[in-house]
Amino acid sequence: MALLNKRPHAVMLPFPAQGPINAMMQLAQILYARGFYITFVNTQYVQERISRSGSVESVKSPPDFRFETLPDGLPPEHGRTSKLAELSRSFTDNGPPYFDKLMDKLKHSQPDGVPPVTCIVSDGLVSFPQKIARKLGVPRVSFWTHSACGFSTYFFAPLLVEKGYIPLKDERCLTNGYMEQIIPSIPGLPHLRIKDLSFSLLRMNMLEFVKSEGQAALEADLILLNTFEDLDRPVIDALRDRLPPLYTIGPLGLLSESANDTISDISASMWTEETSCVKWLDCQDPSSVIYVSFGSITVMSREELLEIAWGLEASKQPFLWVIRPGLIDGQPDVLPTEFLERVKDRSFLVRWAPQMKVLSHPSVGGFLTHSGWNSTLESICAGVPMISRPFLAEQPTNGRFASEVWKIGVAMSEDVKREDVEDLVRRLMRGEEGQQMRKTVGELRDASIRAVREGGSSYTSMEKFVQEIKRGLDCE
Ligand code: UDP
Repeated sequence: MALLNKRPHAVMLPFPAQGPINAMMQLAQILYARGFYITFVNTQYVQERISRSGSVESVKSPPDFRFETLPDGLPPEHGRTSKLAELSRSFTDNGPPYFDKLMDKLKHSQPDGVPPVTCIVSDGLVSFPQKIARKLGVPRVSFWTHSACGFSTYFFAPLLVEKGYIPLKDERCLTNGYMEQIIPSIPGLPHLRIKDLSFSLLRMNMLEFVKSEGQAALEADLILLNTFEDLDRPVIDALRDRLPPLYTIGPLGLLSESANDTISDISASMWTEETSCVKWLDCQDPSSVIYVSFGSITVMSREELLEIAWGLEASKQPFLWVIRPGLIDGQPDVLPTEFLERVKDRSFLVRWAPQMKVLSHPSVGGFLTHSGWNSTLESICAGVPMISRPFLAEQPTNGRFASEVWKIGVAMSEDVKREDVEDLVRRLMRGEEGQQMRKTVGELRDASIRAVREGGSSYTSMEKFVQEIKRGLDCE
């Protein structure tokens, strides 16, 4: 029993969407490889989706890497991530009593070999475990699976509200030039326009939620960010001045590659990956393919999809395009036969791709992305420049950073036109500008590799974090 008590046990609770789950899973695998016992908590809906997707690896997880579930309080037919405000509210309202019960169950599972819980790691947008962590006397780790710049805008939201920038007063703000206004005052961030802010900050139905979760970071015992110092130093420094100890441990995808092989296969994907696209990539020229994906949550109009399709066609560039079920508002098969016929020799369409493998494939030379944080970071790790077409959450901020701060991408206007798509694809894939961005993102990729190597900033932060949790154990 004494030995059992000395094993650290992390309970990990992601926000119930694919991107945050992926990042939390990477962290879980790293902690497991460093000797932690893991309880990974998904919503029932997510866990069923993962099982149905054929990602059976989760079933094969070892007995000391367990899955548990909580209800999100929504009926099965609810759109969930397509109605983020409702999902966030419902999970925050319904999750806590079940989470408390789970913690109680884990406490009483010690005779069955489950070590006492040593820390709760929950997404930055899921702060409700804070109370029970206090009660149990264990640290709550707030893991922001968002970008540092995105988190920063959430944390400084009260300032933006006070100065009257957000929320939008009414829908006219979208068209009367208001969105172009510069905000000079977010510590650590360059001057952003209102339109570069997270969509969650602009509207009342999400603003209250992200604002209060941003402030809840002040109560956490420790904060983790999936980035690295050389990428985000000014943003991180400004946050560090105001928050509990903050560690940068990214890119987790690279750090987890070196984690224990026996479990690195545990998948948390809600879709079945179509690996056949990698064989297609094998037959393409180096750096010739543009990879197109808008992540797991985006819903776009049929009109926009068609503009993108015809822009890709006109660019004459080979492309691999992820058209996820649910990507287009209510319509499954929308690409016209004429388009499919014209691009059949230089395109590959899938419903879900093994994205990391795709981005790191030598044939891929560019990424048309929605600028979700995981996708952005994965593109940096692979040294692939981007075209950014943000849709929601903190994607506009990430896209702005990619084009204006890191200079590794170009921005697409929100009123997507096929001529622009064609022009941007050409500039990225064939122009001098694209060459320069490829060089710059290559340097960032090298910096990310240095960060996760022994002695690098993220490697060292991860070691410190693990030691801190283990030290808490020694004090018991
Ligand atoms: N992803 C994937 N296959 C796809 C599309 C996306 O594996 O076909 C993964 C991608 O690698 C990333 C996650 O899904 O880890 C998407 O997260 P991100 O933060 O980029 O965007 P979100 O889906 O949260 O909007």
